[in-house]
Amino acid sequence: MSKKRILSGMRPTGKLHIGHYVGALENWIKLQNDYESYHLIADYHVLTTNLDTSEIYNNSIEMVIDWIAAGLDPAKSLIFRQSQIKEHAELYLIFSMLVTTARLERNPTLKEQVRDLNIENMIYGHLGYTVLQSADILLYKGQAVPVGEDQVPHVEITREIARKFNNQYGLVFQEPEPLLTNFSRLQGLDGDAKMSKSLNNTILLSDEPEEVKQKLRKAVTDPLKVRRNDPGRPEVCLVFTYHKKFNHENVSEIESGCKSGELGCVDCKMKCVEKINMFLEPIIYKRKQMENDIDAVKNIIADGENKAKIVAASTMDEVHKVMSLG
Ligand code: SF4
Repeated sequence: MSKKRILSGMRPTGKLHIGHYVGALENWIKLQNDYESYHLIADYHVLTTNLDTSEIYNNSIEMVIDWIAAGLDPAKSLIFRQSQIKEHAELYLIFSMLVTTARLERNPTLKEQVRDLNIENMIYGHLGYTVLQSADILLYKGQAVPVGEDQVPHVEITREIARKFNNQYGLVFQEPEPLLTNFSRLQGLDGDAKMSKSLNNTILLSDEPEEVKQKLRKAVTDPLKVRRNDPGRPEVCLVFTYHKKFNHENVSEIESGCKSGELGCVDCKMKCVEKINMFLEPIIYKRKQMENDIDAVKNIIADGENKAKIVAASTMDEVHKVMSLG
C-alpha cells in the first residue's frame, strides 16, 4: 500500500527554537518514515506580518539547516519554497471565492496572532492566510496534516474548502485529516504560554551551552518558592515543563525534590540546562557541518522545488479541467 502524503510548513523567520522542535519538527522527523512528507518553506505567509523580504532567503536557509540538523532527511522529506511554485497563488485565489470572511474571522487562532505579533490593523492577506494554507495542503493532495491542538481549526477550514470545491466543480480533492502531536506547545522562558522570537523568550536549537545556561538562569519559576528550601509547585513552573520534555527519565525525582523543598531552583535549572545541552549538542554539530557547505543546502531546496512543481502542475491541470478553464 502506498504511503499517505503529509503536508506541513513553517514560516522562514531564521533560526528555530526548541518550541518549534517540540511543536512540529520532532513530529515531522518521526512521521517521515511512515508518510510521504512534503515540507513547505512558507515564504508567502511571512508577508502577512512582515513586508521586508531582504532576509527572507537567508532566513529560509537558516531554517532548513535546523530542520536537517535536527533530523529531517531530505531523501525522505521534500523541502521547497512556497513562492517558487506559482500554483500556490493561483489555487489560493480560486479558494478565496469558496469561503466567507465571517468564517475566517471565526478562526480562533487569529486573535492570538494579532496579540503575539502586535497587529493593530489587520491586512486582507492576514485574514486569508488559512485560505493560503488550504491551497498549500490541497495543491499536493495532502491527506494528513501534522498539527498541534491549536491548529486543528485550520485543517477544518481546509476540509470545508475541499468539500465546497468538490461539490461545486467535481471531485479533485480529498479532505485531509489532522495528525495531532502529543506535546504541542512549549512555554517561553518568561512564562508566556508560547515560546516565540517576537516575545524574546526562546532557546534556539543553535544556542551554545553557555547561552542556554544564561537564558535558563533568568527563567521564571514558582513565585511562591522564594527561598531554596521552600516547598515548590512544579505544576505551575515552566522549568518543570522543560524537564518533562528533555529530562523525562528524572521527572519524578525533580517533582518530589521540588515539592519537599529539598531541591532549590538554581540546582533544578542547572539539571535542566545539562539535559537541554545534551539534546542540542548533535544538532549544533550537524549545523556547523552544514554551514560549511551552504551550496548543498541550496541544492536540496532546488531539488525539492523541481519535484514539487510537477505535482502542483498536475493538480492544477485537474482543477482547470473540472472548472472548464483549460
Ligand atoms: S525547583 Fe525546579 S520545578 Fe520547582 S519551582 Fe524551582 S525550578 Fe521549578
